[in-house]
Amino acid sequence: MRVIRASVVHFPDQSPAGEEARWELFDDAVLWIDEGRVKGLGAPEVILAQLPPDVEVEHYPGKILIPGLIDLHVHYPQLEVIAAYGTQLLDWLNRYTFPAELCYTDSEYAQAQAERFLTQLLAQGTTTALVFATSAKTSVDAFFEAARGRNLRMISGKVLMDRHAPPGLCDTPTLAYEESAELIERWSGVGRLDYAVTPRFAPTSTQAQLEAAGQLLRDYPQTYLHTHLAENHAECAWVAELFPESRSYLDVYDRAGLVTDKAVFAHSIHLDSQDHHRLAVAGSTLCHCPSSNLFLGSGLFNIRAALAAGIKVAIGTDVGGGTSLSMLSTLGDAYKVQQLNGETLSPELALYLATLGAARALGLEDKIGSFDLGKEADCVLLDPTKLPQLEARLERGMDLRETLFALMIMGDERAVSQTWVMGEPVKTQA
Ligand SMILES: [Zn+2]
Repeated sequence: MRVIRASVVHFPDQSPAGEEARWELFDDAVLWIDEGRVKGLGAPEVILAQLPPDVEVEHYPGKILIPGLIDLHVHYPQLEVIAAYGTQLLDWLNRYTFPAELCYTDSEYAQAQAERFLTQLLAQGTTTALVFATSAKTSVDAFFEAARGRNLRMISGKVLMDRHAPPGLCDTPTLAYEESAELIERWSGVGRLDYAVTPRFAPTSTQAQLEAAGQLLRDYPQTYLHTHLAENHAECAWVAELFPESRSYLDVYDRAGLVTDKAVFAHSIHLDSQDHHRLAVAGSTLCHCPSSNLFLGSGLFNIRAALAAGIKVAIGTDVGGGTSLSMLSTLGDAYKVQQLNGETLSPELALYLATLGAARALGLEDKIGSFDLGKEADCVLLDPTKLPQLEARLERGMDLRETLFALMIMGDERAVSQTWVMGEPVKTQA
């Protein structure tokens, strides 16, 4: 049993979605965790009265407890190319990313990188992520082994690529199907793990391979679809050339049966209203990756327009195109991108998209994303006093909403004082 007392912020299950999302704020509350699950949340006098008088209470006055953050698009093999200079998407892939991904046929190497990635992710307060591996089966095995060893709720999959990449990274439509099927049977539903069929993006897959991905989704309906969509103008022009019969980039995926309610499309910046309508009808999710979009100069995703079209939206760090695994700093970048669109991103909507909204996008809202009773107790303790530049404002007095907004603009792993997975502490202190 674990009993944590702090300020608490979360979106309960009855919260509406999107811009209507309503959080529950407690200046002082107790979260009661039993056998890794939430057993109670409420005012200290209410919860403590239900517990034995000698129960140990971990008390963190001035700190804020939130549900574990959810990163809906990130590449674990790209931590080693983070902050690589001077290119946009297609050159960046060829010059930095593909050479790095070639190393993941080596199991030991992949295991070491997976462990390093997960340590960093948890240090940032991220407890669930939708993760690209590489096209090597070994990269997926290494990632899932590492995630299972830490009891994490994670989703990943083998990258499918059969053209326009180095031969060492390419498979074929048949191999893509067979290797993915083998990995799904080995890992899907094991512990807290789920599988995502993961074609990298349309330019590196033939029509036949995209159709093999569609077949996998039909044969294994529990799996997700995870890919990139309409990130950069040169990429969109290339897709139009490669698939002249398709009406749009999204239509390439749609013709292969990939546009479903379990699909997560990273970026999705350059879409038209017909694409938006199709995505809303299908129930797919768009994952906004602001730090990556700024770093690679890809464009400005409009969160409000996507939500207004009835599409689910989530947030991803997209490391190594993104420059930080911190969801706090990524939310700060999302705020700035929306400012450039002439919109604002409220702290309520930002935190919703990174917690319950992302859980709902994955269909995992009965398991993670808030502190409702019975949910898996993945949580994060934020400490605003760890940001020295915020001291002067804190001294003048800030309410919880103002503090959360400041954490999203200025925060990173320094502000994460602890991360718990199923109620167990996992952050290694610096
Ligand atoms: Zn990506």
